[in-house]
Amino acid sequence: MLNKKNTPFVIPIFLPNVGCPHQCAFCNQTSITGVTPDTISPVTLRFLINNFLQYKEKDRRSVQVAFYGGNFLGLKKDYIRVLLDETTKFVKNKRVDSVRFSTRPDTIGVEQLDIIKGYPVSTIEIGVQSMDNQVLAMAQRGHTALDTEKAAALLKERSYEVGMQMMVALPGDDETKSLITAQKIISLSPDFIRIYPTVVLASSRLAVWYKKGEYTPWSLSRCVSLVKNLYLFFKSKKIPVIRMGLQASEDLSKETTILAGPYHPAFGHMVHSKIFLDMATSLLEAERGSCDKITIKVHPRSISKMRGLKNKNVENLKRKFHIKSLEIISDLSIAEDKLKIIL
Ligand code: SF4
Repeated sequence: MLNKKNTPFVIPIFLPNVGCPHQCAFCNQTSITGVTPDTISPVTLRFLINNFLQYKEKDRRSVQVAFYGGNFLGLKKDYIRVLLDETTKFVKNKRVDSVRFSTRPDTIGVEQLDIIKGYPVSTIEIGVQSMDNQVLAMAQRGHTALDTEKAAALLKERSYEVGMQMMVALPGDDETKSLITAQKIISLSPDFIRIYPTVVLASSRLAVWYKKGEYTPWSLSRCVSLVKNLYLFFKSKKIPVIRMGLQASEDLSKETTILAGPYHPAFGHMVHSKIFLDMATSLLEAERGSCDKITIKVHPRSISKMRGLKNKNVENLKRKFHIKSLEIISDLSIAEDKLKIIL
């Protein structure tokens, strides 16, 4: 579990679909971020950073300005410099520590990396989405898995912290392809991962396919199960998964924004709850005797994960194992990802 004090305070600057060579089939950043496509001026950037800095907790170790929602290295050279020059002023004043941005793998090249050399960029997130070329083609990404491999090598050479974003449930995707994608991503040694289930966003190409019956969104439970396996896979390789599911926002909760698909504002929590349910189930299955009354001990920070959304895990376990009384209590001596059952 990440300690909040050790994680950077991130100031998100959204540049929706700015710098993108075209619109990928699943994407509509305006729907996700609630911001209409536009570049921002240095004055606006300064205003946004200053505004966010007011909310920084005193004990946060570092501050990062993050450019999200578009394809940062696809922006015009001069504009990249304008944004980084402005942000660097905050770094020089010691109010910000570093910069991060997300970008497409096929825009990460020597020429682009030379532009950002010398600026305080510490972290680059690559929009990998899939390492299956057929899935990439169906999503109209316009790049291949090889572009991601080359990009990762270039970033590692230059010692950037590298994040990788993958999607599941894209057209043509399935559990096996997603697990192979995870395997290939692991071989590129990223520093962290984000996993996003595909949802049908209004005004995307996917929305057209969905309406024509050419794309069937995955159910929430199928996506939770797959992402759970991916999370455990990355965890076993000691690669942190820092986000699962789209960040909840007012815009996303509108019915007109997401037409269909496995969206849930607490998607990541659902994945963790499923992991706790599986752990408790396998421990109880190993117990042959009767268990009328049981107590499950977990770390205080894991209580809600053990309970599940709306106490679903508790109900599920009681029903499955004919338990009359099930109590969940906190115990600081137990690791956050473990549990102990007392019969
Ligand atoms: S997925 Fe990324 S590259 Fe594709 S349109 Fe959206 S922001 Fe641009």
